[in-house]
Amino acid sequence: MDDISIEMKVPLDGDGFLRRECPNCERQFKLKYSVSNTETLETIDIESYYCPYCYEPASLDSWWTKEQLEQAQQLAFKEVVEPELKNLQRQIQSLNRNDSFAQIDSKLEYLEESVPLTEVDDMVKVDFPCHPEEPLKIDETWKQNVACFVCGIQYPASLVKESSEQKDSYGG
Ligand SMILES: [Zn+2]
Ligand SMILES: [Zn+2]
Repeated sequence: MDDISIEMKVPLDGDGFLRRECPNCERQFKLKYSVSNTETLETIDIESYYCPYCYEPASLDSWWTKEQLEQAQQLAFKEVVEPELKNLQRQIQSLNRNDSFAQIDSKLEYLEESVPLTEVDDMVKVDFPCHPEEPLKIDETWKQNVACFVCGIQYPASLVKESSEQKDSYGG
């Protein structure tokens, strides 16, 4: 099959973070997304990145969440499979016109329009001294070491978590 490129919009949260999921431990975190850091990541040509929770490396394209993959599949279906089905439907209808064939029911059922993904402002931001330009957001209940996504250096969660006491979000 030819390569087909499908444009998928993935939502960012209020701070511009993109949700990611570790292919190994399946925990979710968020990565600061910006065009400039995408370029940087490409220029330094790093082949693998590190899960902040289980420290396992994986290539850059392996961090999609299940929801994002599902969305991509639905988009692929709409872009690729549906036009093929419509084509087939037209052929069936033209066959039906000259009555020598049995009538073929050519009703097709299409997938419902996929619901756009949404992103909530959860998780807590962590800044890494080694790569301050690549902050992450992690589960706020995480107490173990957190690894830098870029180089895998581990830090105690209490050290890199943005101080939640200052936010005063638990008051009231
Ligand atoms: Zn992991
Ligand atoms: Zn680092």
